[in-house]
Parts: sequence; structure tokens; C-alpha cells
Amino acid sequence: MRIIRALPREASPTRLIIHMFLLRYLCGIILHMKTLREYIKEAGDKGVAIGHFNISNIEALHGIYNAAKKLNVPVIIGVSEGEEEFIGRNEIVALIKEIRENDNYPIFLNADHHYSFETAKKSVDAGFDSVIIDIADKSFDENVQITKECVDYVKASGKDILVEAELGYIGSGSNIKDTIPEGAGILTTVEDAKKFVEMTGIGMLAPSVGSIHGLIKSGKPHINAELVKEIRDAVGIPLVLHGGSGLRDEDFTNGIKAGISIVHINTEIRLAYKEALEKFLKENPNEIAPYKILKPAVEAIEEVVYNRLKLFNNI
Ligand SMILES: [Zn+2]
Repeated sequence: MRIIRALPREASPTRLIIHMFLLRYLCGIILHMKTLREYIKEAGDKGVAIGHFNISNIEALHGIYNAAKKLNVPVIIGVSEGEEEFIGRNEIVALIKEIRENDNYPIFLNADHHYSFETAKKSVDAGFDSVIIDIADKSFDENVQITKECVDYVKASGKDILVEAELGYIGSGSNIKDTIPEGAGILTTVEDAKKFVEMTGIGMLAPSVGSIHGLIKSGKPHINAELVKEIRDAVGIPLVLHGGSGLRDEDFTNGIKAGISIVHINTEIRLAYKEALEKFLKENPNEIAPYKILKPAVEAIEEVVYNRLKLFNNI
């Protein structure tokens, strides 16, 4: 308002244009938000981690966002190939962008575990903030080749999109497992991690450091914090911890202190959602309004996410 009032009564068109540019510039400074890359760096410097939570629908997004806002911390929303297809690729991009710009809040969108260059490419084109190309169950050379193809594609696009890749198989699927799946859980070596990052040029690495995707009934996995630190020092890029569901608090805190900058949680959210939904339907068999039926599920997700974010952000 002051700028407008300060204008001389008979402002020339040139002066008016200069003032308009000045106003836009000032608004730009006020509204400038750090990029995901900058938030991840900041988390690393502070010794905390950004929480990454998956969604299949807008209810889960509300639960996660409510929790993040209560703690005022940045948050990453993830959609896997299946989740992305269910919710709609362009729809979720538009939704996150709208929240981020409207609320001026650091909420970002990640294309979680995309198993081919073709699907990762679609997420890059749609405007995700980061993308995970996961070729970890294939050979080292094939993993390098497809990951590099993805990195090159993002570079050529000119967009500021972070590419993450996984090295060392930690299993797949955010579900409940009786035992650790065969072939999963082989730890990533420091040498392989260093070679892989140099050969591909990725922005973030998800190494296998003890966790397994999903919830394991036969016992909780354990994070090798020493290995996390060695890999982080060797590769020089942020590390991401997958398969966080069900880990002990100290496994998270030790891993984060050792160099984990993002932690993924999915199975715990799915379980909270399902249990709250089941309970409500059992207790209220005549209720048919979706916004009433799903309210406890949103709150259950919010509670899980709130507790995890507190831990990851050392609050
Ligand atoms: Zn994962």
C-alpha cells in the first residue's frame, strides 16, 4: 500500500511500470520458498530428517499435512507407481502445487519407487519435485544404466528435479510380512555406493543399511548407523532411509545422526488408516457419509505422522 501511496499524483507510464516491477520483486522476496534441495541440505546441516509419507487418496494427504502444519516442518508426499495411478498423476501434482503456493508451505511431491525409465519419465514430465528410479533388484550395471538414463533426461529437461536411486535390495511392497523376503537385506558396500553415485550422477541415494520395506512380523530390523556414516562420507550426497515402518526410535535417531536426510514411512500409515476405518464401520454400520466414515482414518494417519515427524525433526 505504501508503495502505491508514494506514487506521485501524475505518474508517468514509465514510472508506473518501474513501480509495478518493484512491487512484484518485493512480493517475490516475501513469497520465495526454498527448494526441496535446499530443505534437504538444511536438514542435513541441522542433523534432522525430512519425513516422507505415502498417500493413495486425499484423506491421507490431509492427515499428513495437518500433522506437518502442527509442527511447522517441511514434508514430502510420496506416491508409488500404483498409488500414483490410483490418485491421478496430474491431479496430485496440481494439488501439492496448489497447497504449496496458496499456503506458502514447504510440502513437496516425490515419485516413489518407479521401476522403469518410462514411468519415471512420466513423473518428470508431470512436474514432480523428485523421482526415485528403482532398479535395485537388477544387476549393478543395469541399475547404473537405467538410473543414468533418468538423470540425463532430467538434466535435459532443465527442471530442478532430484533423482534418487536405490542400491542394495531391501525388498518391495509396503505390507505386512512374516519374515524378511529372500534376497533382501544385503547391505550396500561403501565401494559400490561411491562407484554408483559417480557413474550415475544422482542427487540422493537410498542404500541398504538394515531396514526392509514393510512391517516384519518375525522381528524388527536394525539400522547399521556406522555403515550409514561411512556411505554418507564416501558419496557426499544426501541419503534416504526406506522401510522405516516398525523401526525402533533409536534406530531412526542413530541413522539420522549418521547422515540420513529423508525417512520413508508408508506401511504404518496404511495400517492406521485400515484399522480406524474398520473400527468406525463396525461401530457405525448405518453411517453412509464418506466424510464422516473417513474422519477417524484421517485422524489416525495424523497421529502416526505427527509422532514420526517429532522424532525425525528432534522436536
Ligand atoms: Zn521405499
